[in-house]
Amino acid sequence: MPELPEVETVRSTLEGQILNKKITNVEVYYDKIIENATAKTFEEALTNQTFKQIKRYGKYLIFILNDYAIISHLRMEGKFFLKSLDEKRSKHEHIVFTLDDTISFRYHDTRKFGRMALLKTTDMTSIMNYPALKKLGKEANDPTFTKEELYNKLKNKKVPIKVALLDQSNICGLGNIYVDEVCFMSKIHPQMLASKITLDDASNILTSSKEVLAKAIKAGGTTIRSYTSSLGVTGLFQLELQVRAKAKMPCPNCGTIIKKIFVGGRGTYYCENCQKLRYPKVIGITGSIASGKTTVSKYLEQKGYKVLDADEMVTKLKTKSTIVYKALVSKFNDAILDDNQNIDDHKLAKLIFENQMVRLEINNIIHPAVFKACQKAISESDDKLIFMSVPLLFEAGFDKLCDEIICVNITKEEQIKRLMKRSKITKEDALLRIDAQMPLSEKCQKATFIIDNSKDLCYTIEQIENILKKI
Ligand SMILES: [Zn+2]
Repeated sequence: MPELPEVETVRSTLEGQILNKKITNVEVYYDKIIENATAKTFEEALTNQTFKQIKRYGKYLIFILNDYAIISHLRMEGKFFLKSLDEKRSKHEHIVFTLDDTISFRYHDTRKFGRMALLKTTDMTSIMNYPALKKLGKEANDPTFTKEELYNKLKNKKVPIKVALLDQSNICGLGNIYVDEVCFMSKIHPQMLASKITLDDASNILTSSKEVLAKAIKAGGTTIRSYTSSLGVTGLFQLELQVRAKAKMPCPNCGTIIKKIFVGGRGTYYCENCQKLRYPKVIGITGSIASGKTTVSKYLEQKGYKVLDADEMVTKLKTKSTIVYKALVSKFNDAILDDNQNIDDHKLAKLIFENQMVRLEINNIIHPAVFKACQKAISESDDKLIFMSVPLLFEAGFDKLCDEIICVNITKEEQIKRLMKRSKITKEDALLRIDAQMPLSEKCQKATFIIDNSKDLCYTIEQIENILKKI
């Protein structure tokens, strides 16, 4: 499919071939190509008109004659050819113009998706008001296109950036090939939500677009599959593509193998090392049982931060008819159910803390589900910063999702005391539960920040505020 550079190549090539030539005859063989007039009107209007100018906007060619304009979109396979008058018309040539009674100018389209519109005006402002042109955004290589304009167009779009850049009403002239190149040059993952764009991204996209389009126009467009311009000019730009159609080849920047995925149904090439998906900054909060994670989470929530709570997620994931519920019930039956067939948290906790094998089995059911739920919540979040409170953050591999980790620490004596009071259990049971987890000292070693929660609330808050400043 021709993109902006290819259409520009067609435009400049045709300029040298048909400008100032008079149409002495027109024959339309496939009516539907003309989208706003009958074949007869088209033929009559254009006979005796002379090609005065050929312009282009995005992927649209605009032929300006004495009294009329033709807007042409080549779509998938449209091409123009100049042939001698006596050359037999091929079945794919749908419109034949005779120029100066000496040469034939033919529109060729194997798939018949291309369209032309006839306008009775030669004024560019009126031409640009034609619906198909009016809805187009600024051209990707327009020097007046500012990063603020692009940023404002994209910042509320909840679609992958690739889809947003292909939408010609946001930015005009980038097709499937060049969007991949532009994302690569701008180090943006094609699946990143457009709403996550930064001003820097917008600036990089515009700079890359100008660069890639200028190079492509200079090289005469990209020839992939069927495109050739009217002189049979073959584009050379495919030699310079960095990621497009390079699946399984090394990235020119870092050597990582280029991947092919589908974004919005379109084949998409990218380097997963150079174009990393950017999630919000995720700060994990962990600790040991009764060490005070909830105190820290509650304070952060009060301050307006989003806190994902793994325990709350587990509660939701265990409700009747969920996959987790079914898996647990099929394994443990009545041992974990109350009279209403709901999972009884006390029964479950007892199983978890009393038998290590059972604990592993239960964790293997619950943890992957919580992990997925957290991952989903993070990827869908609009927040720049998210906290995630997970008791078994390290044990269950949730540290992979975190940029930084806060460990809430407490002395063992204090921990036993609080746990006995909170869960109304004996010292023996409290110790059993504490020892079932990774030692708190080990967690503190792995964390970025440590909060000492052994003293009063003011002391804890002071430490949280200090961490917030650092983050
Ligand atoms: Zn790379």
